Amino acid sequence: HHFVLGKKKQETTLSVLQDISIQVNKGEIVTIVGKSGSGKSTLLNLISGFIRPTEGEIWINDQKVSNFSEAEFADFRLKHMGFIFQSFQLIPSMTAFQNIELPLILNGESESSRKEITLAILDKVGLKEFADHYPSELSGGQQQRVSIARALVLKPPLILADEPTGSLDSETETELLQFIKELNQEMGITFLIITHDDEVAAIGDRTITISDGCIVEGVKSR
Ligand code: ATP
Ligand code: MG
Repeated sequence: HHFVLGKKKQETTLSVLQDISIQVNKGEIVTIVGKSGSGKSTLLNLISGFIRPTEGEIWINDQKVSNFSEAEFADFRLKHMGFIFQSFQLIPSMTAFQNIELPLILNGESESSRKEITLAILDKVGLKEFADHYPSELSGGQQQRVSIARALVLKPPLILADEPTGSLDSETETELLQFIKELNQEMGITFLIITHDDEVAAIGDRTITISDGCIVEGVKSR
């Protein structure tokens, strides 16, 4: 398949990914590596529907998501995908509790169920005592845990992570990787993780290498 990102001025197009065909199975941890600019984030943005392929199809859970409208994709994303970013992307004016509660509000949960679920997940990520702290009052590792809790709160079957440990020191990184493995084993959550880091890449059941928009290594099923 051949993906082209937004047309630039003078009608030139930039072809970012070509002939990409990957399959990620339920319960797998797949890591994606490759040089800067090789197309890793583009691949994740395609899967999450933030950009659309110019050719080819994307299927998730037997649904052809590449045909979804924006509204359908927004709803699908909320229910099926969690996101973890290098820069955490927490809302600074909201406490840890409120950041984690947000997807539950969007999903129309009642206040009492929101409170119960949010407190349980704060406990799970070891931040029970920090519920009322704002992001600026938390360490990088703690902020990343809040962002993971938020990604998990609706129990999505798939978590997409773009350099999740890029802002963490190596000790916190090791803790986070342990936590990702636990979530994978206990809850069967599938992870797709982009990384520059060998230690992160190593937690994958397999690693896909992208070079200049093509997969050069690591595909099992075509
Ligand atoms: P990094 O490791 O630095 O994050 P990456 O592998 O994630 O790199 P991408 O962000 O996927 O790389 O970018 C792949 C190519 O697409 C690059 O040449 C980039 O400049 C280009 N690109 C990314 N987003 C856009 C966009 N919205 N419009 C035009 N070009 C883009
Ligand atoms: Mg990137």
